[in-house]
Amino acid sequence: MAKIQMTTPLVEMDGDEMTRILWKMIKDELILPFVDLKAEYYDLGLPERERTKDQVTLDASYAAKKYGVAVKCATITPNAQRVTEYNLSQMWKSPNGTIRSILDGTVFRAPIMIDSIKPNVRSWEKPITIARHAYGDVYKNTEFRIPCPGKAELLFTGEDGTELRETVYDFECPGVLQGMYNKDTSIDSFARSCFEYALSVKQDLWFSTKDTISKKYDHRFKDIFQEIYDNEYKDRFEAAGITYFYTLIDDAVARVIRSKGGFIWACKNYDGDVMSDMVSTAFGSLAMMTSVLVSPDGNYEYEAAHGTVTRHYYRYLKGEETSTNPVATIFAWSGALRKRGEKDGLNDLMAFADKLEAAVIKTLDDGIMTKDLSGLVSEGYKSTPVNSLDFIKAIRERLEA
Ligand code: NAP
Ligand code: MG
Repeated sequence: MAKIQMTTPLVEMDGDEMTRILWKMIKDELILPFVDLKAEYYDLGLPERERTKDQVTLDASYAAKKYGVAVKCATITPNAQRVTEYNLSQMWKSPNGTIRSILDGTVFRAPIMIDSIKPNVRSWEKPITIARHAYGDVYKNTEFRIPCPGKAELLFTGEDGTELRETVYDFECPGVLQGMYNKDTSIDSFARSCFEYALSVKQDLWFSTKDTISKKYDHRFKDIFQEIYDNEYKDRFEAAGITYFYTLIDDAVARVIRSKGGFIWACKNYDGDVMSDMVSTAFGSLAMMTSVLVSPDGNYEYEAAHGTVTRHYYRYLKGEETSTNPVATIFAWSGALRKRGEKDGLNDLMAFADKLEAAVIKTLDDGIMTKDLSGLVSEGYKSTPVNSLDFIKAIRERLEA
C-alpha cells in the first residue's frame, strides 16, 4: 500500500516516562506504516531539556509558530523531587508554560465519548469543550494578610501622570487583601482564539463571567468579546450556522447541566480551572480528554490532557506489564495530522485522521480497552481489559481493515 504523502512538516515534541513509551508504540504501529511522516522532531524529554539548558523547548516552540501545527507528548514539570531524581542543574520551567507564552494561546479541552461509558450527567449526548483563559487574574495576584486595623487602598500611577486611587476597605480588625489584573491584549487573544476555534469545529461558543458584580473587570472581558464578535466574526459565524452567546457564570452552570452538550464554553482563568475538572470528571476519564492550544494567529499544538503517568512508568521499569490508556495521545496525533491536511489541502491525510479515530472508537466499542476504562463501562456492554501494546495492535487491525 502506498503511504500517504505530506507536503509541510508538523512539529513533533517527544516527552517523558510512560507517555514516551506510548508515543513510540503509537508511531510504530499507527502512524509510520500508513503515513510518509514529515516531522521536525524535538525531544522535550527531561534529560534533553537538561542537556540543552532548556533551549530545545524554545526551539520547539518557535518551530510550532513557524509551521503552525505541533503534536506534543506529556512532559515532566520538574519539582524538588525531580531535580534529585534527574540530577538537574535547575528546576526547569513547565514546557507547557513556555510553549503557551511563545504561542500566546488558549487551551481547549474536549472529552472523547464512547457508547459504553455514559457521562454522569444523563442529558449530555455530545462533548462539552472548555476554553480556559490561561493568563492573569488570581494566578498572578498580590496578596496580604492584614495584621491589624488600618486602611487598604488601590492605587494606579500612570506613566502619563494619571492617578487612580480608591479605598478598598477600612479594616477595623485583621483580615486578608488581594490585588489582581489582566490585560486588554491578552483578553483580545483569548477572544480571537475562541472565535477561531468555534469556526474550525463548527460549534456554538458560550462565554460567561460575573459582570453584574465585577462591573469593570469582568465587564471588560464581556465588552472585548462582543466588540470582536460584532466587528470581525458575526458574518462568519452566521455563514457557518453557529452562534455566540454570552451569559452570567451562574446561569451558564445551570444551562450546561441541562444541556445536551456539543458546544464550547469559554471561561476566565479560575472558572476554567474549576469547571474543566468538573466537566472532565463527569464525562468519565482524564485519559480520554484531548487538549489543543490555539494561538490567536492560528497555530495549533495538540496533546493529551493527562501527565506522564509516572506510577505506571515505575511499574514498566520493573518489567511489569502496564495497561496505560493511549487514546488521548492518539487523538493528539490525529488532530495534528488532520489540521496539517486542512492547512495544506491534503484530503488523504484528513481522511486518514478520521479513519484512525474511527478505528480507536471501533476498538473501544468492541469492548477492547485499557484497565482505567473497563471499570467505567455501563451494564450491558462488554469490556476486555488489555495491556497498552495489545490495545494499540487491536486498533491497528481495525485501521488496516
Ligand atoms: P498523570 O500523569 O495524569 O497521572 C495521574 C493518574 O491518573 C495516574 O497515576 C493514573 O492513575 C491516571 N492516569 C492518567 N493518565 C492515564 C492514562 N493515560 N492511562 C491510565 N491512567 C491514567 O498525573 P501525575 O501523576 O500527577 O503527573 C505525572 C507527571 O506528569 C508529573 O511530572 C507532571 O509534571 C506531569 N504532567 C504533565 C502534563 C503535560 O505535559 N501536559 C500534564 C499534567 C502533568 P492510576 O495510577 O490510579 O492508574
Ligand atoms: Mg486545576
